[in-house]
Amino acid sequence: LLYYFAVFAGLVFIVFLWRYLVSNRVMAALSDKNVELEKTREELLVANKNLEYLSFHDSLTNLYNRYYFMSSLSDHIRHVHRHESSSALLMIDIDFFKQVNDEYGHSVGDKILQQFAQILAKVLREADVAARWGGEEFVILLPKTSKEESVVLATRLIKAVEEYTFESQIKLTISIGASQYKQDDTIESWIERADSALYQAKDEGRNRIEANT
Ligand code: GH3
Ligand code: MG
Ligand code: MG
Repeated sequence: LLYYFAVFAGLVFIVFLWRYLVSNRVMAALSDKNVELEKTREELLVANKNLEYLSFHDSLTNLYNRYYFMSSLSDHIRHVHRHESSSALLMIDIDFFKQVNDEYGHSVGDKILQQFAQILAKVLREADVAARWGGEEFVILLPKTSKEESVVLATRLIKAVEEYTFESQIKLTISIGASQYKQDDTIESWIERADSALYQAKDEGRNRIEANT
């Protein structure tokens, strides 16, 4: 009986030992897989962040792109309706920029657009939203800003550009059109008034700001 019991106990011991060893190996493999999964998850998060950044920003200047600007403008209009605060738009166009490309080449032109974006970043306030509208045109949303304040800010920008020496010792000027948000404005009508003010600034000799109500 003792002999059978010892054999049985031995068998039970072997079975438990075998189970223990197998489950240890499975656990180790699982833990390796978990580490791998966590790494993949982190890589995906980074890739998503990069994609989100790319979809909202202009790749040359790192300013917001037109798509992001339109959506933040539409959010802003909903907010202004509720809070009745005054806001302004600036439409900016670099004067005679084609000449820069023609005389110095496209890559100098590109560098200048980047330098201009840096000037914007220095002069604008935290809450202002600046975007590249396209080509050498930029658009800025100035929340909680009166017409007078928008003219002051635009004049500061014009001065900053005038004083700056761009790539290849190039001196440049900008023209700006400003418009105030009006009750019942749509995004399009608000932008349209800034655009027509910009045309007026160009017509009246450039390197200046014209403000629409
Ligand atoms: P105006 O004072 O009337 O605005 O004259 P302008 O020469 O600036 O205007 P125009 O619209 O005739 O030319 C704009 C030029 O901007 C044309 C194009 O070569 C240049 N441009 C647009 N986008 C880019 C860009 O991404 N890089 C470079 N280097 N140039 C660009
Ligand atoms: Mg233009
Ligand atoms: Mg231009």
